[in-house]
Amino acid sequence: MTFEESGADTRLTHCGREPQQHHGAVSTPVYRASTILFDTLAELDSKEGKRLRYGRRGTPTTHSLEDAICALEGSDKALATPSGVSAISNILMCFAKPGAHFLVSDSSYGPTRKFCEFVLRNLGVETTYYDPTIGAGIEALVRPETALIWMESPGSHTFEVQDVDAIVAVARSHGIKTAIDNTWSGGFFLQPMQQGVDISMQAGTKYISGHSDIMLGTIACTEEVYGPLRETYLRLGLCLGADDAFLALRGLRTLPVRMRQHHASGLQVADWLAQQPEVIRVMHPARPQDPHHAQWKRQFTGASGLFGFVLAETDRTRLARLFDHLELFGMGSSWGGFESLLVPSNPAVYRTATEWEPAGQTVRIHVGLEDPADLIRDLRAGFDRLGA
Ligand SMILES: *Cc1c(COP(=O)(O)O)cnc(C)c1O
Repeated sequence: MTFEESGADTRLTHCGREPQQHHGAVSTPVYRASTILFDTLAELDSKEGKRLRYGRRGTPTTHSLEDAICALEGSDKALATPSGVSAISNILMCFAKPGAHFLVSDSSYGPTRKFCEFVLRNLGVETTYYDPTIGAGIEALVRPETALIWMESPGSHTFEVQDVDAIVAVARSHGIKTAIDNTWSGGFFLQPMQQGVDISMQAGTKYISGHSDIMLGTIACTEEVYGPLRETYLRLGLCLGADDAFLALRGLRTLPVRMRQHHASGLQVADWLAQQPEVIRVMHPARPQDPHHAQWKRQFTGASGLFGFVLAETDRTRLARLFDHLELFGMGSSWGGFESLLVPSNPAVYRTATEWEPAGQTVRIHVGLEDPADLIRDLRAGFDRLGA
């Protein structure tokens, strides 16, 4: 059995570790380094091509993380960046040139769109947003100058599942590269590289870290696109601190057990929410009632703890009664940590290719690792305050 053939739990336990290189230490220690010294002029002369040559170009700690990301995503190569957004901008910049055209899913993470609007537009790159459920229909939007198709599945806040296979087939027939934001699955429940996607990125800030205490971006990619992506990374001066790489590796070791628990607890809370009179819609693709369930089931092996629901029309004052007094749910950006979060959202404001008509208040929920029965009690008390 090769390492690649072993189960994900096994791979994530053993990947990116070389104890014999580090005095037997199980986990690669934190290497803080800018200058790397060479003993002889001959060694200095041969530093081209050496993995270890200057702190910004990586240390044993960040290299361990990049090796582990390859094992997680099943990719040839990986890059670790200082945030999820820097991973996104690294990829988009790599394909940007005057006159180029990008296709970006309408349900993409807000800052992905903002990078297209505020940076790429000024560089002469045009972006067309497309309906995330477009599938093979994306062919009609392809132009001779289309250089990249960007996917995110399920979509931020609205949780549409994309037909990655159909989009990859169209992209390949036109020689267009594809990238996906794979943050929701943690790289554990979806393997886009196996579906033929060229680049799978994640906000490692979320599930890879798993503890809400670092910022991290990961880029997994094929050998073919690694060269230009790495060149863009180096020219932009991106690099990751060794302490954050160490914490990311620590988080990654427990990713499989955490993800299975997020899946089970998330579904339990989603099923409960669907039965409440205050809730008019639940967006959770692992529920058979969800319009994206079939597409999810075909591609994913599980669901994370992040999903959405829509509350019946209410005003801000009543909403505050729900949100201000929650005992277990926190209110704040990000997700993927061990703790539960609840935030109101408004997906209608940034969409351009599709409409979001919630006829109520959209809410994004992250179900953490608490006992789901306690989370349900917290939500029930909140809904009671809402109606009081
Ligand atoms: C949070 C998030 C990002 C950005 O990650 P940061 O680490 O906050 O920069 C990218 N994509 C998705 C889907 C996210 O939720």
